Amino acid sequence: MAVATERARRPDSFTQAAKEAVAARDVCPFCPGHESMTPPEVLAYRAPGSPANGEGWWIRVVPNLYAAFRLEADGQERREGRFSQRDAIGACEVLISSPDHRAPTPLLPRRQVEEIVQSYVDRYRHHAQNPALEHVLILYNHGRPAGASLEHPHSQLYAINLVPPTFNDELGGARRFLDAQAGCAFCRTMEDERAAGSRIVFENDAFVVFAPFAARTPFETWIMPRRHRASFGELDLSSEKAAFAEALQLTLTALHEGLNDPPFNYYIHSAPLKASVDRDYHWHLELIPKLSTAAGFELGTGMWINVVKPEDSAAFLRDRIQKKVGQPA
Ligand SMILES: [Zn+2]
Ligand SMILES: [Zn+2]
Ligand SMILES: [Zn+2]
Repeated sequence: MAVATERARRPDSFTQAAKEAVAARDVCPFCPGHESMTPPEVLAYRAPGSPANGEGWWIRVVPNLYAAFRLEADGQERREGRFSQRDAIGACEVLISSPDHRAPTPLLPRRQVEEIVQSYVDRYRHHAQNPALEHVLILYNHGRPAGASLEHPHSQLYAINLVPPTFNDELGGARRFLDAQAGCAFCRTMEDERAAGSRIVFENDAFVVFAPFAARTPFETWIMPRRHRASFGELDLSSEKAAFAEALQLTLTALHEGLNDPPFNYYIHSAPLKASVDRDYHWHLELIPKLSTAAGFELGTGMWINVVKPEDSAAFLRDRIQKKVGQPA
């Protein structure tokens, strides 16, 4: 009887799982064939001759249906006592990583990761030309605990008419360093990290990947271009695009395989569009895995207790990447 029960259950649960997998794709607005479920695309890399908003694309960018910001808001400041507020204006876009519902960045061909980077640059440069906007933020949420609401891998872009406060903090620190030391704080950090070596995760011709000295969370990792440029929009498509895709994919793969696919966020910090910070600022990507939860102490003090030393997390990721890169293709 026990055997019979087992056998009876197996096909049913299999069918159920298969059904659910199909159902997830059935309702996914980012899957091919569902283009009409999203607003019309603002950019797509697609096969020649394939119609816009139909199948045949490998990268597709659409306005976010649940945008927190809109370009048509009036942006007027309103005062209420000592508070003032204004509508946040801007664009929110979704950059769909690939047609494959179940292929996060580590599982994509390298060529496709380069196409993702290309779409970041194309949309960044597009919004940078808009005189009403101050800042463009590109980010990626992986996993529900990191805020991803749809499983289909995608990045998000926010082009907004203000500079985020956390960004101003970082820029302020860089400016003070520049005034005192007459050099870029980020270039200096990279030099110091390369000299020390213990927090380096990966390096190629154009990028350095490292665990920052003051990592806020376990396995926090930064990816920084060796070439000093303030804005991500200045990424050199011929000399930096492939190298950036390589650094990003190898880092995400080491996390995915080494830590069993943890949730994470990454975002690209780039100079505000209108500030003159060519010397002060140096664009970079910050990757924050969600391996622990901020609790009362962190929220109350703004200080982070990191349970993994950055030297240890860097060594862990570095070993995995070295094994991977050493492997014959
Ligand atoms: Zn999908
Ligand atoms: Zn620099
Ligand atoms: Zn930053």
